[in-house]
Amino acid sequence: MSLLTVGSVAFDALETPFGKTDKIIGGAATYITLAASYFTKANNLVAVVGGDFPSEMIDILVSHGINTEGLQIKEEGKTFFWSGKYHEDMNTRDTIDVQLNVMGNFDPIIPDSYQGCEYLMLGNTAPAIQKQVLDRMNTRPKLVMLDTMNFWMDIAMPDLEAVLPLVDVLTINDEEARMLSGEYSLRKAANIIMKKGPKTLIIKKGEHGALLFQGDRIFFAPALPLEEVFDPTGAGDTFAGGFIGYLASTDDISFENMKRAIIYGSAMASFCVEKFGSERLVNLTEKEINQRVLEFVSLASFEIR
Ligand code: AMP
Repeated sequence: MSLLTVGSVAFDALETPFGKTDKIIGGAATYITLAASYFTKANNLVAVVGGDFPSEMIDILVSHGINTEGLQIKEEGKTFFWSGKYHEDMNTRDTIDVQLNVMGNFDPIIPDSYQGCEYLMLGNTAPAIQKQVLDRMNTRPKLVMLDTMNFWMDIAMPDLEAVLPLVDVLTINDEEARMLSGEYSLRKAANIIMKKGPKTLIIKKGEHGALLFQGDRIFFAPALPLEEVFDPTGAGDTFAGGFIGYLASTDDISFENMKRAIIYGSAMASFCVEKFGSERLVNLTEKEINQRVLEFVSLASFEIR
């Protein structure tokens, strides 16, 4: 089944305990579509970049089968820029700088060829744009998933509250779940957030895995304990891309299949953090992905005697 992703395509400048990068390619939609490309061949992107965005990166996306017809290039503008610095434990980071640039007045045009997509991933971007994309779909997709972050909660909470009732799955991290609900307990937070609209909620907990909530059902997926985490940037988006890519490829949105999808998403995220930026996501093989999924299976399975 086909997937449509909207979100940032960006330049990032990162600092982790392992090093510093100048401007490298990042952005939520970059990570999502790259991760999803390992699952679905109908992988459509809507985003905006400036004239400073390298055509070689667009070629890489295209070589992964990503449809870039909906990627607008504003020759006169500059690409969205984000800069972040990680703390020693790498679970927390500070945003140093955000320059919306061409994303500031992004009009998300959906090409006709994208209409009818069954799976819609509203990746991290302004909630008003996320809603506009949904409004512009001629038919409502079978599954709509939304990812957001504290930045938008700080400056656009009413817009976020307006789009939440329209989505099926929300992914946020633990800190954002607490911020959105005003509750510290993630279980209580989940109940409050699900009342705002999304019937399914995924709370990402970085190196401590992810929780999947639906009604009164809960599933927990661990994160793989890696010897070295080089750069966590994009892990959440890569997770989302793996999750929705897997759902789209199997076309099964049952809770049981979401459990499998969350493991595939976690496996993809575990690759992402091994190198800076999206480098590791560009050259994966199906064999590597399947092997890593098996590591997850053995990590969390046991028998009751
Ligand atoms: P993640 O580490 O999965 O939360 O995502 C990191 C990516 O999100 C980076 O590549 C950034 O370019 C992108 N990003 C950071 N802030 C924003 C924002 N306010 N809106 C959209 N994308 C953002």
